[in-house]
This record gives sequence, structure tokens and C-alpha cells, in this order.
Amino acid sequence: MARRTLVVGNWKMNGLIETARELVDGILTGLSTRAGGAIAGEVVLCPPATALHAVNQRLEGSPVQLGGQDLSEHESGAHTGEICGAMLRNVGCRYVIVGHSERRAAWGENDERVARKMAAAFRDGLQPIVCVGETLAERDRGAALEVVGAQLEALYPWLPAQSIHRQALVVAYEPVWAIGTGRHAESGQIQEVHAFIRQSLSARLGEDGRMIRIVYGGSVKPSNAEAIFALEDVDGGLIGGAALDSADFLAIIDAVSEKF
Ligand code: PEP
Repeated sequence: MARRTLVVGNWKMNGLIETARELVDGILTGLSTRAGGAIAGEVVLCPPATALHAVNQRLEGSPVQLGGQDLSEHESGAHTGEICGAMLRNVGCRYVIVGHSERRAAWGENDERVARKMAAAFRDGLQPIVCVGETLAERDRGAALEVVGAQLEALYPWLPAQSIHRQALVVAYEPVWAIGTGRHAESGQIQEVHAFIRQSLSARLGEDGRMIRIVYGGSVKPSNAEAIFALEDVDGGLIGGAALDSADFLAIIDAVSEKF
């Protein structure tokens, strides 16, 4: 069976409810003009937590899914300011981003915490989009694959046993030096790491590992999306800056549709 492509928009800490509504309306209007509203793969929007409810209302009846940008590793309780998986589900989320490099860097999320969050997402019925990727210093000293390999290894003990859940995992390769910098990784660099991730997933999880989607993130734009999505082991993209402009985001969705 083929993997379904995936384009995820990470809006980060941008937008109030009104602007979130405008953005989602622009995206839905654009999609409705394309092939009768049919989209080739899956599209997921991850607005800030405060706009999830408003965006979910707009997405009702559309093929676009809702996702959170982070979740607590805890189920409930005295964790002021945190949002758990059940709350995300309750507001309409199907997906959640886990271990984004901005959280790993600013909030000290280490590999084990990321793995716990991934497990919490599965527990609460969400599909985790787990981010992995090396810093510039790590790439420059030739350690990119080693770092990504270690980030993946930390996940395996926390994965659920059932195939249906394992195959729902999404891995996002996001070289930290390419996020929000306007500098995307070269095709050869992207394909090398994606092939390495695929190899690791298949070696550790067999057929389940072959079905897990691996998306690329880091300064994807309409001008480079087609070339990136054409790479053999790239199943879609995690989009930051360009997801805040409906025309750009739609052009990126079109680029993935052209491949599959
Ligand atoms: C991201 O935040 O995950 C990301 C890839 O951002 P950008 O597209 O802006 O580099």
C-alpha cells in the first residue's frame, strides 16, 4: 500500500482569532477551486492553541485536518498552562506536532521528553508528528545522521505495539539551521537523511516502518517545494513561514499533488 502524502502548516505563535479565520478561509476557498475540492494527500493546519476552536469550526465538512503545536506528556492535573492530548482531541485535533526544535531549544525538551509526549499523543488518540533534525554545528562536524539516529532510537521503546498506531506516526526531518532562515537544505542532504530515517524505521519496525510518513521541514516555499517533494523518500512537508500566506501554502499543496 502507498503512503498518503501530507502537508502540515505550523502557524507557530502567529495570529489572533480573526486573522486565523481569514487564513483558513483563504486556504479552503483556494482548495475548493482545485479539482472539485479533492486533494491528493492530507492537509493539516496547526494554529496557536487559542485559535484551535475557531479554526475547527471553519474546517467542519472540509478535507483539511486540525493539529496542535505541542502537548503535555501528562494526562491531566496540576500542570499550569499545559494542554493535554485529550483537550486537543476535544477541540477537534487529529494530529499534534511533538519535539519541534524551537521547543527542544527554548524549553529544554530532550529526546526522552519528546518520546513521552509522543506516547501521550498515541494514548489520547492523536497522530504525533515528531520532529528530528541536527543543528548547524552538528552538521558541520559530520554528525547529522548520528544525531537524527539517536533522536529516533529514543522513540522506539515508547511506540505502541499495534501496527495501526505505529503506522500513524509521522516523522518530520527539520534541520534546525534551515528553519525560518530562508536557507533550505540541498536535495542531496534531504534525500540522504530521509533515506537514513526510512532505513532506521524499516529495520526497527518492519512493514510498519515502511508505512510511516517522513516529511521535510525547513524554509519550504512555492519556489522549492516541487523539487523537494520530488525526492524519493520525501512524503510531504512541514511548513512554517509559508503556511501563513494562503497563496503560498496552496502553491505548496499543489506541488505535492503533482508528484502523487
Ligand atoms: C517549522 O517551523 O517547522 C518550519 C519548517 O518553519 P519554516 O518553514 O519557516 O522554516
